[in-house]
Amino acid sequence: MRGRWIVLTALLALVLPALAGCSGERDLAFAERYVIDADLDPEGRSMTYAQRAEITNTGSDSTEELWFHLYANMYKGLFQTEDGDVLVTSVTDGAGQSLSYERSQEGVLYRVGLAEPLGPGETAELLFSCQVIIPDLESKYGVSPAGDVQLPGFSLQLAVYDENGWDTDPLQEEGDGRYAHTADYDVTVRAPADYILACNGDEQGVTARDGVTEHRYICRDRRDLVLIACRDYVRRERQAGDVRVLGYFDPGTAGVTEAAMDQVMDAAAFALEYFGQLFGPYPHDTLVVTNAALGTNFAQSMEYSGLITVYFDLETDPTARSHITFHEAAHQWFYGAVGNDENEEPWLDEGFAEFAGYLCLEAWGSDWPGWEIAANAAGAEQVKDDKVDLPADEHPVYQWGVYDRGCMCLKELMDAAGREEFLAILGGYCRDHWMGVATTADFLAAVRAGTGGDVEDILAEYIQE
Ligand SMILES: [Zn+2]
Repeated sequence: MRGRWIVLTALLALVLPALAGCSGERDLAFAERYVIDADLDPEGRSMTYAQRAEITNTGSDSTEELWFHLYANMYKGLFQTEDGDVLVTSVTDGAGQSLSYERSQEGVLYRVGLAEPLGPGETAELLFSCQVIIPDLESKYGVSPAGDVQLPGFSLQLAVYDENGWDTDPLQEEGDGRYAHTADYDVTVRAPADYILACNGDEQGVTARDGVTEHRYICRDRRDLVLIACRDYVRRERQAGDVRVLGYFDPGTAGVTEAAMDQVMDAAAFALEYFGQLFGPYPHDTLVVTNAALGTNFAQSMEYSGLITVYFDLETDPTARSHITFHEAAHQWFYGAVGNDENEEPWLDEGFAEFAGYLCLEAWGSDWPGWEIAANAAGAEQVKDDKVDLPADEHPVYQWGVYDRGCMCLKELMDAAGREEFLAILGGYCRDHWMGVATTADFLAAVRAGTGGDVEDILAEYIQE
């Protein structure tokens, strides 16, 4: 995420039920596939959908329960809008038998009890019926006054099972809050014919009937699912090597001029090729780029797996718009391709995307003093002793501690190890954790192996371990 930073004062405390402890002692791992069939009614501010989850146990132990996140519900309440919700109204198994389920954390977390234990190699089929009540757009979720719809995280995603068990930790107030493995999605959405839709996948086809348009998307290896819609989107297109960059922009939004759209599309295409050379080829066929719709409070640039939103209304310096595009594009590697727990170690995506964004800005030919800006923030009195690998809520100033100190940790490592050497280390780290999940320990192992261990003073300054 990158954007305007406004202190939120009306954060609603989440009511957190006590959850059964999870030991993480079992060997559980899963492959996830989801099929979603949705009817979107933007004017009625609602969407209903059926979601089939096919969860294959790839571990060696059995489980009698599955936990899911429904991340759209994390925006509810946190951003002052109370009238949105995503409700699961029923859960059945593949045979049509009702399954017990519990909703907690304001609907962000669901536990489903299985009728039979799911053994190694077996696939559970679950059918969810869901109702989405779409709120006013705040930050990055909902419908804007101009009618731009942004629906990130509206569907169920299996929670990660790691060494601590099921990830049922409460969300933190800072940061993006997600933690997920990649999954395949097959999505069908019907919407009024005058709406233009996009999804973070590849559009397979569009059919129109009786004023309704049906869109189908295939989204492979995505770490999330996001749907956007607007009556007034104009479409722009670029090619970045083999990758198609598709832009959807609402010219009615402040700052969305022809020149700004060109700038963002060019920057996105440049970033895909640049980062592809450094960190491995972009993992999808298409990157969707859209403007961050202006809500009732503020808008934020944001990354999803295969889609980025860019905040356009930057009156001060147009370079900032390129940098934000580079930053969000970098998340396709540091978040999308190499996942991490955004609550526990947000620096692994935000610090890395900030660092990569400044590298890209240099390669773009800009003399914007990005490193100086980051260094100043990283050295600020409030954060100068902050460790980058703390959980999101434990940084005295989240932005400076995670983004700027995270960026400067990598910059100092690069300066000490040598540019080519350090970028090779980062490329190897991406390769080793491609489409997986990485931790700070994984990064440290890569750095120590690649540098011979002579950067310990920098690591000790920035990382708690
Ligand atoms: Zn970011």
